[in-house]
Amino acid sequence: NQDFEVVAAARNWRIDVQQKHTPQQLVSEVFGEDVLTLETLRQRLSKPMFKSLQATLERGDPLDPKIADAVALAMKTWAMDKGATHYTHWFQPLTGSTAEKHDSFLSPSSDGSALAQFSGSELIQAEPDASSFPSGGLRATFEARGYTAWDPSSPAFIMRHANGATLCIPTAFASWTGEALDLKTPLLRSIEALNKAVVPALNLFDTPVGRVSSSLGAEQEYFLIDEDYFYRRPDLVMTGRTLFGAKPPRGQELEDHYFGAIPDRVLSFMTDAETQLYALGIPVKTRHNEVAPGQFEIAPIYEQSNVAADHQQLIMQVLRNTARKYGLVALMHEKPFAGINGSGKHCNWSMGTDLGDNLLEPGATPHENLQFLFFCSAVIKAVDEHQDLLRISVASANNDHRLGANEAPPAIISIFLGSELTEILDRIASGQGGRGKAAGFLGLGSSVLPEIPRHAGDRNRTSPFAFTGNKFEFRAVGSSQSISFPITVLNTIVADAVQVLTQELKAKLADGQDLQSAVGELVKATYEAHKRIIFNGDGYAEAWHQEAEQERGLLNMRTSLDAIEHLSDAKNVALFGKYNVLSERELAARQEIMYDIYFKTVNIEGETTESVAATQIMPAALAYLAELSGIKAGKAASAISEEVAQAADEMYDALSDLRAQNEAQGGEEVHEKAHHMRDHVLPAMQAVRQAADKLEKVVAAKHWPMPTYRQMLFVK
Ligand code: ADP
Ligand code: MG
Repeated sequence: NQDFEVVAAARNWRIDVQQKHTPQQLVSEVFGEDVLTLETLRQRLSKPMFKSLQATLERGDPLDPKIADAVALAMKTWAMDKGATHYTHWFQPLTGSTAEKHDSFLSPSSDGSALAQFSGSELIQAEPDASSFPSGGLRATFEARGYTAWDPSSPAFIMRHANGATLCIPTAFASWTGEALDLKTPLLRSIEALNKAVVPALNLFDTPVGRVSSSLGAEQEYFLIDEDYFYRRPDLVMTGRTLFGAKPPRGQELEDHYFGAIPDRVLSFMTDAETQLYALGIPVKTRHNEVAPGQFEIAPIYEQSNVAADHQQLIMQVLRNTARKYGLVALMHEKPFAGINGSGKHCNWSMGTDLGDNLLEPGATPHENLQFLFFCSAVIKAVDEHQDLLRISVASANNDHRLGANEAPPAIISIFLGSELTEILDRIASGQGGRGKAAGFLGLGSSVLPEIPRHAGDRNRTSPFAFTGNKFEFRAVGSSQSISFPITVLNTIVADAVQVLTQELKAKLADGQDLQSAVGELVKATYEAHKRIIFNGDGYAEAWHQEAEQERGLLNMRTSLDAIEHLSDAKNVALFGKYNVLSERELAARQEIMYDIYFKTVNIEGETTESVAATQIMPAALAYLAELSGIKAGKAASAISEEVAQAADEMYDALSDLRAQNEAQGGEEVHEKAHHMRDHVLPAMQAVRQAADKLEKVVAAKHWPMPTYRQMLFVK
């Protein structure tokens, strides 16, 4: 019986004892060990060379080719000292994952020598054969050239594997015509746009500043299941989610998993992964069990958003690789198991100066904090004006299974501000001013417990975009997606709102108004114009969906295709164009790729459903029927036969329909194909699944071809 076999495997996991580190060692020896820090470069470069590199890093001055050679040499010797044999330009194509093509530092020659080669030009630019990366029509096959260009603002690092190591150089990726083919380029452009918009605003408040950037901390949710189960589930292997599976007798209703004790095997895995992440200079901070059985979360401390986006990709990669060492598989899919919570990636976002000021920090007296009120208003304006873009930035076939199910924010974008801040804004709008009832302290009713200062608002798990004290948390982002585009959107829309509000503020000041009354008027007007986007109630409630759409006129793009359609709207072309984040062609290409990925994702799911149902589930049902038909007597045998036969017939019919839908094209254009997938293939898959899940409940376990939810979720 496979049940027993697999449980035995789960019980027998053991790996060689890991090198153990004391906390002191983790900080002093491990952290950043495999990162090429500025400090390391400073030690390895002459003073003038380092100064010139620093100017590039700090002010964006072009890099002198002579310096590039020196930096390349320093990088190479550092990397080889660390055991790296190869280097790669590491980039983020529009697939949402990362790409690397390794070149050796060594060129063995026939006379037995092996010269190490890595020049400045190889550091700065490379030309991978790029014809197979999605370009959304930006590049015809005959013009397949693509270039990767060094991003000196994100440090190079060493990626280790069992038999060696590779120097990874974060790069941007563009076509030979200079159009971005990756996720990093627009992110860098949006950071620049934010900087350009916010610095003049800060000048009006007399706040000292050199540069402004956005900060980002992303909480990653994921599932772990036993590797043996994984490989017996073709649906998980092919699509990352279960396309079949009856609800187990126990799901998450006992709520005993959340923050529960972490099983030893899982904790060993987490510790191992965290140690590797430390070595990569990634400041991992928290780990805990999530709501669903088998679901976990890892979160780092926030960083500058470009570095955070690179690090987020590395977190996913290290989790995936490390799980395998423990006989586990880490599932990053947004909805691996139907009927059980899915996984998100909450993006905590703020803006800050190079001098360490967080611009969304309300301080002890938010009602008097003009600068905070100004930037907070800008975010409210940005989110209301560009609800569509935020929704689009999280749109994918995977995330459709999660958004709007009672576990994740709805597809309607709104802001949770919390009662204190909402009251302050309400008072400003009504001309009263002041803070209203003070936030005060939480009385816990016991003198042994410390007084806990009350946060500027409770938490609200149902809001897609929540103010959480000194930052906003964008909670609709999917667990498997790159965070780059959601941050690009946030940076750009806030840059736009800040820019517009700054113009208005300047005009008022030029008219002789004082700062306090000018900001007060601006905050009042902005709040009145955009307060429909603020909602502090239950985002899951049906009543909210009605109110949002009918009374407030908020957008409700239910499926990702409803959202993607709007990426190329004139307003969005104008916005991204105005801030040089994405040109019209680049935007159109991205839209095309989003349709294409949607289409391919569901297409693969449709074909996998068909094949598993036809070649594994149907034969199991028929084998059981044959076995039952050998039993000549008794009420039970005939009743069970009848039940199995009915479900098998139902699946047979559903399967014929799915087969027809899988073959149909739906049209020539990729968006037509995508709509065919959503409107015909997904429902046909659902019908097959319904019948298959009925079978799972009646067919003898020894015949059932795949591990069940019960096994996958509860054996650890
Ligand atoms: P909370 O528990 O209130 O959500 P945490 O401190 O646990 O706050 O933060 C959750 C995530 O938000 C972490 O990744 C954290 O580093 C990040 N975060 C905190 N402050 C900021 C900030 N100013 N900008 C961006 N992210 C932040
Ligand atoms: Mg969380």
